[in-house]
Amino acid sequence: MKATFRGGVHPAHGSKRPTQALATRDFVSDTVQIVMNMNIGAPSKPCVKKGDHVKVGQVIGEPVGFLGLPVHASVSGEVVAVDAIPYLTGDMVQSVTIKNDFQDEWEELHPLGNVEKVDPAQIIPAIKAAGICGMGGASFPTHVKLTIAPGKKCEYVLANGAECETHITCDDRLMQENATRVVDGLRAVMRALNVSQGIIGIEDNKPAAIAAMQKACQGRHGVRVQVMKTKYPQGGEKQLIKVLTGREVPSGGLPIDCGCVVVNVGTCAAIADAIIDGKPVIDRICTVTGAVRSPANLRLRIGTITEDIIGECGGYSTDPGKIFFGGAMTGMCLPNDQLPMAKSTNGIVVFTKEEAVSAEESPCIRCSKCVDACPIGLNPYDMKIFADAEKWDVCKKKHVMDCMLCGACAFICPARRWLTPSFKIAKQKIAEQAKKEAAAK
Ligand code: SF4
Ligand code: SF4
Repeated sequence: MKATFRGGVHPAHGSKRPTQALATRDFVSDTVQIVMNMNIGAPSKPCVKKGDHVKVGQVIGEPVGFLGLPVHASVSGEVVAVDAIPYLTGDMVQSVTIKNDFQDEWEELHPLGNVEKVDPAQIIPAIKAAGICGMGGASFPTHVKLTIAPGKKCEYVLANGAECETHITCDDRLMQENATRVVDGLRAVMRALNVSQGIIGIEDNKPAAIAAMQKACQGRHGVRVQVMKTKYPQGGEKQLIKVLTGREVPSGGLPIDCGCVVVNVGTCAAIADAIIDGKPVIDRICTVTGAVRSPANLRLRIGTITEDIIGECGGYSTDPGKIFFGGAMTGMCLPNDQLPMAKSTNGIVVFTKEEAVSAEESPCIRCSKCVDACPIGLNPYDMKIFADAEKWDVCKKKHVMDCMLCGACAFICPARRWLTPSFKIAKQKIAEQAKKEAAAK
């Protein structure tokens, strides 16, 4: 029997995955605009100026603070602007715009070579230097995730190939087309953390990826594929850990609290690129689908503008209603198509005007479907009452901070209650309050 977790839902549009059979192709645009806040943590600081010539892989943004990462030029050419633009949340962020000269002139790279032979002490610094953050959408700096706190011990490294989000197939294609790199990256992490067990979790709706990864694991030390049931949100860290190891992350805890580190398969491939080739994150695979004429899996240079990407896919098939970075369940809605994609942009999904209409909320009918769907055993209808009343302390007691905003409860709710947006606000308010309290001490 295939392993699975409690709760979860089956979004119908997720099973169609129209781009699943589409091989990845490259698209390089004539201008990129690279934002400096691509990872969780303080934004990087631009270190180039208008008029500079830059090479591919050159550092154009320096890391700031503990969570900081360098940002690299994704094309060679002239810097035509260094300025602030409104980004996803509406906040102004610094960006560097480069006019591509199409010479693809690279900065000198410093490869470390075979992942099985490299000095393990060199692996995490190389991951930081390559600017790697969670490529599955989380954008957490990978070198920080791999820095294990004193007293903790990692026993399993889990490669997340679930890709449970609706519409998105970029990890599926990556595993089919570049399986060895994924295993190389997983092995690099295992060696860096001195761990002997690595498991690649893949949902059973990706048979070609499963076959490719099983083949790539042959003869590699301590790694194996585990097939999981297709169910949303199978790719949530807590669900993945439970299914692959039987362990549970404690409330308010992290994967390392139960001896696990989870790394997305795209992140694994980026790690392998950094170790074997010395290549920083300058591109990634992105699924473009929904209301576009020719859906595609594109390998894009970081900073490619959404409008150019849609143009490469034949343009909109109808008037767009909403554009998301990421899938329809957890993606971020764009204010317009002039924004550039970033390191964690695994998908661009366009909704038609009809699809984009938000259903009216109606009163709760106490059916408890949301309780059955919640993969971590929360009581969404109850939390919603106190979130609407702005009783943040009560929300906290009801464990809203454990909510991972997966949207499974909202998806299943027959009353179309706006559950997830309420929990997002509650989490923000509680975090703000905690910050204020900490500052006052
Ligand atoms: S959004 Fe939160 S409350 Fe709703 S199902 Fe997901 S984890 Fe549970
Ligand atoms: S699924 Fe919706 S209607 Fe049913 S109990 Fe939950 S919030 Fe209420």
